[in-house]
Amino acid sequence: MSAKILVVDDIEANVRLLEAKLSAEYYDVITASDGPTALAMAASERPDIILLDIMMPGMDGFQVCRRLKDDAETRHIPVVLVTALDGRSDRVAGLEAAADDFLTKPIEDLMLMARVRSLTRLKAVIDELRQREASGRRLGVIAGGVTRMGGSGGRILIIDDHERQAQRICSEPAIEHRPFIEADSEKALIAAQGPVDLVIVNASARGFDGLRIAAHIRSEVSTRNAPVLAIVDADERARVVKALEIGVNDILAKPIDPGELAARVRTQIRRKRYTDNLRDNLDQSLELAVTDQLTGLHNRRYMSSRLEALVRRAAHGGEPTSVLLVDIDHFKKVNDTHGHMVGDEVLREFAGLLASNVRAADLPVRYGGEEFVVVMPETRTEEAQRIAERLRMHAAGSPFRVNGGAEFLTVTISIGVATSVGPEDSPGELLRRADEAVYLAKSRGRNQVIASAAA
Ligand code: GH3
Ligand code: MG
Ligand code: MG
Repeated sequence: MSAKILVVDDIEANVRLLEAKLSAEYYDVITASDGPTALAMAASERPDIILLDIMMPGMDGFQVCRRLKDDAETRHIPVVLVTALDGRSDRVAGLEAAADDFLTKPIEDLMLMARVRSLTRLKAVIDELRQREASGRRLGVIAGGVTRMGGSGGRILIIDDHERQAQRICSEPAIEHRPFIEADSEKALIAAQGPVDLVIVNASARGFDGLRIAAHIRSEVSTRNAPVLAIVDADERARVVKALEIGVNDILAKPIDPGELAARVRTQIRRKRYTDNLRDNLDQSLELAVTDQLTGLHNRRYMSSRLEALVRRAAHGGEPTSVLLVDIDHFKKVNDTHGHMVGDEVLREFAGLLASNVRAADLPVRYGGEEFVVVMPETRTEEAQRIAERLRMHAAGSPFRVNGGAEFLTVTISIGVATSVGPEDSPGELLRRADEAVYLAKSRGRNQVIASAAA
């Protein structure tokens, strides 16, 4: 997976070095030598990752990072801060500036690629979610935006059979998170399915193969959204490479530096919350996108997608599809006489009547205003007409409860029935014929069912 990487450093030689390393791995590299230029390029070039030197004259790396993370347009771009060798205090400051990752100078190739690869994958996921969210927003179905996520109070599963090391790993995040240790590999896999914000696994445990567990967690549907941080021996190069291939989200080399552990834990958890939040928004928006808010029935958008497929299938020799177009009679009068609120109550009651009087395979939909549609797969006109007649009788026969049950209103409906015919038919035509039939029912005195003459 290739990516565009913005390298920011005030020292030309550093920029060139990173550029050479990254280009060799086929990354697309762009460069800046100061903060303001970096900010401008982040906005105009939309890089996938930013490698940001901390020590720069004028605006330093922390300030640049903070600006990037405060701007909704650039917030989602992962930022890797490049710190000096003994950068403990830098890491804390970096956390406060909401950096996504850290690299220590001199930059080691393996670790550089590890970070870049992991962040490229993350960025791809975020891009996908953001794109879907943006299209939801265009359709007007997403209300809230994604806010900056905090990174504390996370549930952390530590998988390690080395008791002392596990305790040490546990003690650092315990200040702000809720870590727990699992020394048994089988139990650990089950624990990973619980709500877990981060899994830390010892890749060189004695009793089990930590990387096998990591691979399992990465690939299982029930656990793959939990990030995995692998603890590896720095000199076990092959294991580091393997961990990367498996797709662990982050690597921490032994001996464990508590400050670095805390920083990486916090970053992973914050990132998890960000993507969870995007995902939740998306689920919500998908739900909103297909549901009518007043009645809880599916809406017209949802109906269109279903009807299209059904009509196409019918056109290719399948059973015909029928639709009922149901229009409440003199509904305007209900509003005028009893008020809009009572009108809404009638619509809700009617939606319930509709939903409980069609068959399981039928799709009742609020088509708009006081018009409803029932899509009936594999249904011929006579059968559709029979069900329509049953609906009409129910509506006319039992008054609707309004004003919280204090009053009853008799409401009648007119229904047009249409059935798909032949290979030329389309959803639009089908609905048009149903609409014609409703119009006829209205003109003939309402409270009746009429089937379109065409079918
Ligand atoms: P007809 O028998 O010819 O269908 O007469 P009608 O009054 O039912 O039809 P018309 O299309 O003239 O009026 C529909 C009314 O439905 C007008 C509109 O204010 C009302 N309406 C549409 N959507 C809603 C809604 O969500 N809530 C309420 N309370 N009223 C709505
Ligand atoms: Mg109408
Ligand atoms: Mg009406």
